[in-house]
Formats: sequence, C-alpha cells, structure tokens
Amino acid sequence: MPLHPAQARPAGGEVAAEDVAADPVELDPAELDPAGLNPAGLDPTQLLGAIEELERLKAACAGAQARLTVAFADARFVRARERGEDEASTRRAVGAEVALARRESPHRGDRQLGLARALVQELPETMRALTAGDIGEWAATVIAAETATLAVQDRRWVDRRLGPDLGHLSPRQLGRAARRVAAELDAASVVRRMERAVAGRTVSVRPAPDGMAYLTVLGPLPEAIGAYAALRAHAGSVLGGQRPDELPEGRGRGAIMADTALRLLSGRAVGKPQSVEVQLVMTDRSLLGVGDPARSADEPAYLLGMASVPAALARGWLRDGRARVFLRRLYTRPDGRDLVALDSRRRRFGGGLRRMLVLRDQTCRTPWCDAPVVDADHVERHADGGPTGVANSAGLCRRCNLTKETPGWRVDVVHTGLDPGGPSHTIEITTATGLTARSQAPPVLGWGWSPPTFEPSQAPDDGSPLERWLSSFLAA
Ligand SMILES: [Zn+2]
Repeated sequence: MPLHPAQARPAGGEVAAEDVAADPVELDPAELDPAGLNPAGLDPTQLLGAIEELERLKAACAGAQARLTVAFADARFVRARERGEDEASTRRAVGAEVALARRESPHRGDRQLGLARALVQELPETMRALTAGDIGEWAATVIAAETATLAVQDRRWVDRRLGPDLGHLSPRQLGRAARRVAAELDAASVVRRMERAVAGRTVSVRPAPDGMAYLTVLGPLPEAIGAYAALRAHAGSVLGGQRPDELPEGRGRGAIMADTALRLLSGRAVGKPQSVEVQLVMTDRSLLGVGDPARSADEPAYLLGMASVPAALARGWLRDGRARVFLRRLYTRPDGRDLVALDSRRRRFGGGLRRMLVLRDQTCRTPWCDAPVVDADHVERHADGGPTGVANSAGLCRRCNLTKETPGWRVDVVHTGLDPGGPSHTIEITTATGLTARSQAPPVLGWGWSPPTFEPSQAPDDGSPLERWLSSFLAA
C-alpha cells in the first residue's frame, strides 16, 4: 500500500486541558464520536438537527484551536527566551509547527497563528460567536482580515459593533460591514489596506481540466480592467477584419483574447507557436529496448512542474512540428515509480544533482507545504559530515530550509530510495516540540500514479511505430 505523503503524529506532550477556559458548548466533544454516528433510524428532523449541531461543534473546535494555538505559541516563546534563541526564527518555527499539526502549509500556519492571536486578544465578540458555533472559522477569518490594519482599540470597536449581527450575516456581508465600520473609524486604514493589497499583486498558473491551464494576474483594478478592455478591443478589430496581420480563422472573441494575451505575455509574434518542454518518462526496459510497446505508448507524459497529461495529448504537441520541442529522458525503476537518473542532454539549467532533486521532489518536501523547490538541502548538514548526493538531499522552499535550522529541529533520511526494491526516498521531520512528520518523494509521474498491472512481454523488438518515431526524435 502506498504511504501517504505525510504521516504526522504527536510524539508526547499533550496540552493541559485545565489551562483552557471552559466553553458554553452544548455538545461535549469528548463524548461525541463523529465516526460512530449512525444515521440509521433517525428521521429527517433528527438528521438535520444532528448536521446543525455538528456544524456548531466544528466552529467551537476552531475557537478551541485558536486558544490552544495562542497558549502554545506563548509557551514556545517563553522557552526560546530562556534559551536565548532568536525571536524571528522561533516565530517561523511556531508557525511551521502549527501548520504541521493542522495539516496545512507553513504559510497558512502563520496566518492561523495571527488569526488565533486576533481572536483571543482583540476580537472577543467574534471569538464568543465562534465558540458558540454561531459563526464558522471562515467568517471569523474575514473579520480578522478586514480589521487587520486597525489600531487595537478600533479593532475592538468594530468587533463590538458587529457583535449583534454575528450569526445573521454571511461571511461576505460581515466583511463588508467590518470594512464600513473600519472606514468610519479610521479612513487612513482603508488606504493602508489598499496599499497592502497592491503589494500582494502576483501572477500564478494552475492546471485546468482537459489539458488547459489558468494563468491569473492579480493586479490593481484600473490596470486589470484596462488590459481586459484592450484585449476585447483587439479581438473586436480582428473579428471585424481590421487587422490585416491576423485573421479570425474561425475563433470567437474569447479565443482571440486568450491567444493574444498568451502571445503578448510570452513575447511571440503573430502565428509563432509556443515552445514546449516535455518530460518523457522511460523505464529501464524501454531504455534497453526490451519493453512492452503497448506500455510505452500509453505512458503519460509529465509537463515539468505542472501535471500529468495523457500520452495522446503530448504526442499531439510533439507532432505539431511548428513549435521547438525539448525532450528530456528520465530513467525510472522498473515499476516506473521513482526517478533514478536523468539525461542531461539539455544543459541550460544548473547542476545535474539539483535538477534531479527538483524532478524527484517536485515541490517542497515539508508535508502540506507545496511551495516550489528553491533550495537543494543537505538533510544531514555538510558541516556534520553529511554527503552530497541524492540520498542525503531534500528539495525545500526557502522558508522550510530556514525553519530546519531552528534549535531542536531535525530531519533524518529514513529511506534513501536507492535500495533495489526498497521504499522510495523518505525523510522524517522532528520539530522542536517533538511533533514528527514523514515525507515520501512523489512518484515521478505525480501522486495518483499506480504501477502497471500487466506483465511486460519477454520478446525484444524494435518498438511500435510511435516508439521508433520517438527514438529518432531523441537521437536527433
Ligand atoms: Zn516548504
């Protein structure tokens, strides 16, 4: 059975229940066993009532988590000060520990820590409503976010003003209400909020179904609207036949806008296709020419840093002929799960080891992090005698690499991933508080991959027409 990407478990150190204020919760979490709830025999009224009670309980749990989070952070800071440890690195580590405990990214862990402090120390009405189950964690998050730039006394005032409406309004309505009260109290805070928002402008890309992807630009409203209007106007002129260099060719307005945006962003001239780099995975059988032709033809291709794509789609890109195509051969174990070597025919990127690590780990190896790999980290420090090699390496984001240097924090290689037939590369993280979490390298074709179920044929051959075509492509 494949190991889950992360298996976190607390290693001792339970939170003392007596330190936590008792809550006015009707359902006692200790007596409730959600997994054992049996809907059989309940009528619709009882079923709906139970759903409602569980929703209240989830909110009450979020309130309890906030109180426990603040108490945990305070205890960690006291200990760090006693030991003379750096405050900034303690804050980073606390956020990372909260994240591991909540199965979230470190970035989210920081935000949860900030939300917990706001709820416990500055937003008593919101906290009361959350604990009573009148609002959910998302509504509390919205109120905290909308008041984040206010002075403490103003924040408390907004909290008090919204108090009677908590439980009646949707999170979006609460957000608007909080913004209105904040603007009345402190107009300058609205400007600060907008400045903060502008600082968060960014571009992101994420896969969409059917071989598509979303490219999102988050920017200031006037610039985003202006760019959109320009794209619409350009598409209109193409559809109206006013662009001699670009014909509609059966495209609608949306398609012309998308084509134009992507072409301009990648700096291509009209009609010039996008170059693509396709990672082609080969097993050692197919490398040695004794593989099953049917298997090779069906092996999905992996587009670097994005997602698996069906082999037929990748073949379509390759056959296009107009685009420059880079191919890289990745050699895997016989079952095709783990990467063992890569062909460095294309040497434009950095060192081979780093390249191998980025391909093996794909994203930061901290469980739940999912940030891009920035640092190729020695799991056992080089200064402590840790060797430089794939087995003693983990791809980490910058933040997780800094967190790893926190006093008391350690990472161990549990499996090197190099033993024939052995487990895949696995590391174990132990935090300063003693929480442990394991992280296994993903299959080279991404999570969700499963080994082929058919037996490879024994007869060597020179491959299917597709394999011959790809072989000539690779040899070129
Ligand atoms: Zn990370």
